[in-house]
Formats: sequence, structure tokens, C-alpha cells
Amino acid sequence: MPRDIIAEGLASGRWDVRDAAGFAENLTLEADVVIVGTGAGGGVTAEILAMAGLKVVLLEEGGLRYASRDFKLSEAEAYPTLYQESAGRQTKDKGITILQGRTVGGSTTVNWTSSFRTPPATLAHWQSQFGLTELSTQKMQPWFERAEQRFGVIDWQVAPNVNNQVLMNGADRVGIHWAPIRRNVKGCLNLGYCGMGCPANAKQSMLVTTIPSALDKGATLLAHVRAERVLHEGDRATGVECVAMDWAGIYPTGRKVTVKAKTVVLSGGAINTPALMLRSKLPDPHGLIGKRTFLHPVNISGALMPFKVEGWNGAPQSIYSDHFIDQRPLEGDMGYKLEVPPLHPVLTGITMSGFGEKHRALMGHFDRLQVVLALLRDGFHEQSQGGTVELKSDGTPLLDYPISDYVWRGMRDSYLTMAEIQFAAGATRVMPIHEDVAADGYASWAEAKAAIKNLPLEILRAKVVSAHVMGGAGMAAKAEDGVVDQYGRFHHLQGLYVMDGSVFPTSIGANPQLSIYGLVARNASALATTLTRKDVVWPA
Ligand SMILES: Cc1cc2nc3c(=O)[nH]c(=O)nc-3n(C[C@H](O)[C@H](O)[C@H](O)COP(=O)(O)OP(=O)(O)OC[C@H]3O[C@@H](n4cnc5c(N)ncnc54)[C@H](O)[C@@H]3O)c2cc1C
Ligand code: SF4
Repeated sequence: MPRDIIAEGLASGRWDVRDAAGFAENLTLEADVVIVGTGAGGGVTAEILAMAGLKVVLLEEGGLRYASRDFKLSEAEAYPTLYQESAGRQTKDKGITILQGRTVGGSTTVNWTSSFRTPPATLAHWQSQFGLTELSTQKMQPWFERAEQRFGVIDWQVAPNVNNQVLMNGADRVGIHWAPIRRNVKGCLNLGYCGMGCPANAKQSMLVTTIPSALDKGATLLAHVRAERVLHEGDRATGVECVAMDWAGIYPTGRKVTVKAKTVVLSGGAINTPALMLRSKLPDPHGLIGKRTFLHPVNISGALMPFKVEGWNGAPQSIYSDHFIDQRPLEGDMGYKLEVPPLHPVLTGITMSGFGEKHRALMGHFDRLQVVLALLRDGFHEQSQGGTVELKSDGTPLLDYPISDYVWRGMRDSYLTMAEIQFAAGATRVMPIHEDVAADGYASWAEAKAAIKNLPLEILRAKVVSAHVMGGAGMAAKAEDGVVDQYGRFHHLQGLYVMDGSVFPTSIGANPQLSIYGLVARNASALATTLTRKDVVWPA
């Protein structure tokens, strides 16, 4: 049985962890810093500020899970308890399904461990277009190195599972380059259930790294608390007003939680952070809050292989290809990264196209199903400006993300690429995941090529998903171009910072977790120095 860091910490009696679902009364706290959200951004910020000796209060809408006791490799339990909107979050037109975490550790508790630094081309684009001159590849390198050290990012030495091998072999045969994916794991058992929470504490998520470390250093964690409004007076942020949530993290209980602090850090992740800013009616003279929200949108190709794939087994993502990122200039045709997803029955079932007999036929071959993803690099071209976060009548967020013809063209190109790779790797049938494609798809590359060229690419016909939401509170040197500066400082109030994936002014063009760790470590370290006049060395 692996060590359960959360159980041990709670049993030590040294941690201040409270679950607001059980509160019988309202609560008011004071702190040096209040942090909304405990994911990639919130976790790193909490650890660094607690190391600096600051009194930190962390607020999390979701619950606190004990890793080895609560994570049971069960999709039925994981999605309602660990994900925003029970893994059913959708864009306004319901055309794109969005996966984001809602639990202590945020999306890092459920992510798939792929670890990429921000591509140099992305950083160069930010410098030239958004004035982010401090974020050069050279200046960011030490921060990525520190984050890789803190979160155990390693070259994954275990052979890829069959799902990944198909991408590797197919890429070889069509002559495009591929490479292994680095992962942030220690003692990984190669189970393949990262998306349901790692039962072995192997994934170096915030749940088992920075949050326990911040709690050891005197931070307070309030679970089941949703921040409703940032409090502000004059030109300063003064705290956060919250509602306590029920045990399921869905309905408010009627209790209120208020945290007063001179420094407020928003780390609720893209979509939720801009929504909190909109609910708080923060000054926004250029109308930028919630704009330019990117999804790194994904289209999908399934294939039936003449051998068992069993895509639920083994590290979910261990091979990628950046061929169509490297070959395509940022402002040219849409670039896309190729990866594969873990295949578990519920997530696969709701993602595959069709109903009834068509769907049953496909799922009947689940053990031979292989799937490739194309992740589109949105945010760089004038016809790829992302989406806009709005508020529903109850104040919860809604993302409007229109897909332009330019983006659809990228999806058509990537359907073709994925089918070619899958046939080259030996697929007997290939099915772009699209409502107009028959359950058994196409029998040959020639047939697929002709058919994909004529597929009507429209929302709700082509399946589009995302697990990489970014932007909506973008960085820029000038206030007229962005919501925060290159240290995450909100341009229009003192004492308010954004430290999460919502600060990216475009998508990264790669899986974002390491970009968030590196950037937030830099910015939180600068904040610690500003607040204490001492330098913090992170990781300790
Ligand atoms: C299934 C899945 C797989 C992924 N796989 C990878 C991968 O392999 N590699 C990679 O690089 N990236 C991956 N990602 C993405 C990556 O994990 C995220 O980009 C990253 O964690 C985002 O960090 P963040 O701090 O912006 O937000 P999050 O990590 O999402 O954390 C935000 C937290 O804030 C909480 N919150 C939000 N609003 C409020 C509020 N108002 N009050 C209180 N709490 C609030 C949320 O509940 C959540 O816990 C994956 C994501 C998912 C969902
Ligand atoms: S593959 Fe490794 S990191 Fe993922 S759930 Fe299994 S043991 Fe944990």
C-alpha cells in the first residue's frame, strides 16, 4: 500500500484543513495572502509564499481526497467528484466538451502527466506581439528546470503501451518524426488510470507535492468553498467573499466564508478565473476579461487494429509528434500536435460518435480500438482568436468558442494525417469521430482520403474536445493589450494577481502544465520577494 500523504498530514495534527461543507455558521478569516484554487497555479503559489513565511489561505471549490483511499480507478466515481460539471462542461453551442478538474490539486489531480516546456516559438511570439520581453526562452529555462526538479519530470523509460506504439509505428511508416513524452511521476506503476486520480501517489500532482508542503509550513486549506467575488476598495483588492458548497461540491449550503487579505491570488484556472473577475465587476477599461480563451481544441480519429490495443493499460501518453507544429509557421496553416488519449469505457463511450446500434458496434470492439488526437495550436492566427467567457444567470461561467473556417481546415488536415498514420500502422478500419462517418468507418487509406476531403465540418457533427483551457486573463506589457502584466499583476488594482493558465495570451501549442508551473514559480517568487523583501529559493 503506498503512503497516503494526505492521511498522514491530517493525522499529524499540524495541518489546518477545514471542509466548509460541514460548516454550521459563517466564517471570516484574515491572512497575508488568499489564493483561489489549488491546481497547477494555486499549488505552486501556495508553496512558495508559505516558504517565505507568509500566512496563506487556500480556497478550493472541490473536495479533498485521500489519494490511496479515495482513488479507485473508477470512472463512475471520478467524474462527478473530481471534475468541473462532472466532466460534462460544454461550450455555449454544446459543440465542445471541456475537461477541467474540481478538487484539491485541480486539474493536476486528474491530468495525464505529459510534461512539455513552452515552445520557443510561442515565447518569441509573446515577446513580439504582447511585449513579454522578460519571458524569453533563455530567461524561462531555469524556471522550467526548477519545476521539472520539483515535480519529478523524467524521461519515461517503460515501453509505450500499444495505443502509443501505433502512433509511433504509423508515424515512422509515413515518414514523420515522433518523440517520447516526458512525465512527472515517481514510482509510477504504469496503471493508466491517471485521469481518475493516481492511487499510487506516483503522479506528482499538487495534491501530493505543493499542497502538503504549504500545509506543513502553516497554510490553511478550506475545501468546498467557491469564491464568488473579489473584494476591492478604491484601487486595492482586500479579500474574497465565498459560499460554502455541499459535500458534492455542486450546491451552496447557505453558509458564507470571507477571507480578508491585502494580497489576493486568482488560480481558479482558465474559464473560472475570468468568470470570478467578471462576477466581481473588476475594472476592465479595455473589455479584455474573458476574451481570448483558448482550448487547444482536439479532433479525434479511431481505428480498429487487427491486434489487441487495450488502451486503458499503461501510461496514457508516452509518444507524440510535432511534425505538423514544426512544419507550419505560427501565422500559416493551423499547426497540430499528435498524441493519443487513455481509453476507458465511459469517456470513450461518450466521445465516440453515433447512437444505438452504430455506437454499440463500435464499443463492441473496444479492446482493439486505437485512438489518435490532434491538438490544434489556437491563438496565433488572425482567424484563431479563441472564445469569450460569459456569465450564466446564476453567475456560473459559460464559454462561447466559435470555430472559424481556418480552424476547421486544420481539423480536416489532421483527420487526414491521423487516418494515414493509423492505416500505415496496420488498421483494418479508420473512423474519424464525426456523426456523418459510418460506425465501421473506412476500409483503406484511399477511401478515407477521398471521404475526409468531403466531410462537412460543422459543430455537433465533428467531435471536438479539450482538456487544455488557457487564456481569458492574458498577459501583456501594456494594459490595453492584456489583463495582467508579465508578473501576473492585474493591471487595474493593487494587490490582485493571476497565477494560473488563464494568463497565457495564446494557447501554448503544447500540453500546458509545465508552462504553468514554470511561469507561476517565477511570478510567485517575485511576489514573495515583494511582500517579504527576502528571496525564496524554490524548490527548497
Ligand atoms: C483530464 C485532463 C488531462 C490533462 N492532461 C495533461 C497532461 O498530460 N499534460 C499537461 O501539461 N496538461 C494536462 N492537462 C491540463 C493541465 O492539468 C491544466 O492545464 C493545469 O492543471 C491548469 O492549471 P490551473 O492552475 O490553470 O487550473 P487547475 O489546475 O484546473 O486548478 C484550478 C482549481 O481552482 C478551483 N476553482 C476554480 N474556480 C474556483 C472558485 N471560484 N473558488 C474556489 N475554487 C475554484 C478548481 O476547482 C480547480 O481545482 C490535463 C487536464 C485534464 C482535465
Ligand atoms: S499510470 Fe502511473 S501516474 Fe498514472 S495513475 Fe497509474 S501509477 Fe499513477
